[in-house]
Amino acid sequence: EGFLPGYNFPRLPLMAYIPGTPDGGGRKTYLQRPRFLALAEFGPRSLIYHEGRSYRVVRALLALGQRDAAGGDVKLATETVRICRACGAGHFNEELSTCHGCRNSLDTAEIIHDVYRIENVDTQPTERITADDEERQRQGFELQTTFRWATRGGSPDVRHGGVFEGDDAVLNLSYGTSAEITRINKGLRRRANRSKYGFMINPLSGMWAKNADEEGDADPTAVKSERIVPCVRDRKNALLVLPADPDLPPKTLTTLQHALLRGIETECQLEPGEILAEPMPSRDDRKGLLLYEAAEGGAGVLNRLVSEPDLLPRIGRRALSIMHFALEGETVPSDPHDLRDVEGTSCVAACYRCLMSYYNQPDHEDLDRRDAQAKQLLLRLARAATRLEEPASRAAEPSGPHTTGDTSGGGLLDAVARRDLPPPDAEPRVVDGYTIPAVWHEHYVAAVSADVPESATGDLADKGFLVVQFPADEADWPAPLDELARALGARES
Ligand SMILES: [Zn+2]
Ligand SMILES: [Zn+2]
Repeated sequence: EGFLPGYNFPRLPLMAYIPGTPDGGGRKTYLQRPRFLALAEFGPRSLIYHEGRSYRVVRALLALGQRDAAGGDVKLATETVRICRACGAGHFNEELSTCHGCRNSLDTAEIIHDVYRIENVDTQPTERITADDEERQRQGFELQTTFRWATRGGSPDVRHGGVFEGDDAVLNLSYGTSAEITRINKGLRRRANRSKYGFMINPLSGMWAKNADEEGDADPTAVKSERIVPCVRDRKNALLVLPADPDLPPKTLTTLQHALLRGIETECQLEPGEILAEPMPSRDDRKGLLLYEAAEGGAGVLNRLVSEPDLLPRIGRRALSIMHFALEGETVPSDPHDLRDVEGTSCVAACYRCLMSYYNQPDHEDLDRRDAQAKQLLLRLARAATRLEEPASRAAEPSGPHTTGDTSGGGLLDAVARRDLPPPDAEPRVVDGYTIPAVWHEHYVAAVSADVPESATGDLADKGFLVVQFPADEADWPAPLDELARALGARES
């Protein structure tokens, strides 16, 4: 039996325990993947190939603290999320009537219940792989990403702007550092009931229920199984991109999403998967896309996109040349009909040399480099310039040498104690001259008050800590306290 810690280490990759094979041929080991990719690759009952052998993901390692054993029934402490239909922002267990990102009403929000955070997983060697297995593996999972902007001084920590051709916006942009990104696995793409989300799990052992066609005995420790919708979560820099034209058809938006992503990867020299681009608010209702820094290699790229006025335009141009269009000199044609293919191009709608990739297989049939509106938008982008408003909070920050911050952390520590959260480290931590009284070293979590500057919180974040910000006004503390509880694997109020 493999052992892996069930703690939340938000900054670390997820691990799959490989037990070795009974014949002794396969050795036991741990496989690691960035968590946003692991959600699918280590998904329930998925097959993992390692050194010529196949293993099946059979179990999620549940953290003890996340179980709610009240009343004798074992039930996992799941969350409900409401996802804004205008921008895709998520609202977890929060009593808001309007979206925190775009202020649209949440009355029509998409609601997903039973969301549960998954960490590390266990596998077993698999002898027999059926045609059903192969088909499931090929079609994969229905994934959806949602985001929550970080808060600073009680309001969302996000900068708005756009890419402008003269005074006309081509793309509207919203950029936030350390946004909370949650990626959700709604279920197998190939499932009987599309409106039913999630997977059955044994809430005690973490064993995933078998698919109907799989052989074998029922789990002998069977307790009442529970339906959960697995998710992974982390804080990442994120950029919401909404075309200024709100009426673009889904095919155009799909093509744009992958054209921009390929353009970014090429222009910024990234590996696939280091930046992810996800349709917003969802794949079935495309209005724009969210870019986020999913793996280490992507770190810092989104800040460049919004702070270098000519980078997104260069990416627009690069995307067109990836799509096999011949561009010469500095200028681009104003009419998409004047775009000509590079000589010898055999690609019709899309190919693996332009818009297709292993990661975007579910979108392949919607990719079309001939799409006139997609070409038009990329041409406009290539002639445009990025402008972003300055963050309002910068002006309010004190300048000059700072004094050591509140060393007692009294109010914050009291609030933590009242919420019955695990006690923070006995020794406070000093970062950049500031004393941070509430640090949970083992969980890689820190709670900081409003007077701690970004230089210090950034330092903590760089060390892998999840930093939860507490605004000056204690009336605004319930949300960060909930976040802290989630991060520490405790129950929310
Ligand atoms: Zn919204
Ligand atoms: Zn192609």
